Amino acid sequence: MVATKQAQLDDIKKDILEHNVCPELAAQATQLVFGDGNPESQIVFIGEAPGKNEDIEGKPFVGAAGQFLNQMLEMIGMKRDQIYITNIVKYRPPNNRDPLPDEKAAFLPYLQAQLDVINPKLIVTLGRHSLNCFLPLLFISQVHGQPKRLAGRVYLPLFHPAAALYNGSMKQTLIDDFARIPNIIKKIEITK
Ligand code: URA
Repeated sequence: MVATKQAQLDDIKKDILEHNVCPELAAQATQLVFGDGNPESQIVFIGEAPGKNEDIEGKPFVGAAGQFLNQMLEMIGMKRDQIYITNIVKYRPPNNRDPLPDEKAAFLPYLQAQLDVINPKLIVTLGRHSLNCFLPLLFISQVHGQPKRLAGRVYLPLFHPAAALYNGSMKQTLIDDFARIPNIIKKIEITK
């Protein structure tokens, strides 16, 4: 019998804990923030790393950036339980510092495994860290809002909602880019 997607994701979460990934980060964090949402979703959103609220609740994007994300989802007629959301790095970095290259590299195989299980039509990267994990040579300022195909996957780079929240013009750009998601998904279906 083939395990459900949820069961396969649960196994990946167990692997992270058993393999003691990034023990220094783990020691300072409250808990692992693995991912949340619908494993059958067509869209996966990928942020950077958990912040304070995410560390406490054990779920990604539950703070101010998460509220903003929820508003943008509502704008395109979607709810959080229709998407899957995770981060590159799955423990909160101390004082919300940027994740280090070796931390991103340590979690990447687990992130790839999550994507292999969910196999979404569209991967939305939030912010430059997330974009550069998959497409290291691209600049978010140049490619935001433009879908990119690579190795059978489609990525949509977006600005990070936390960065855009307090920057009026970036915020509007993010909202405009986000509004294109339904059409991008339709196009992927046609051109598959
Ligand atoms: N920012 C992120 O990148 N991820 C979260 O989960 C919350 C804020």
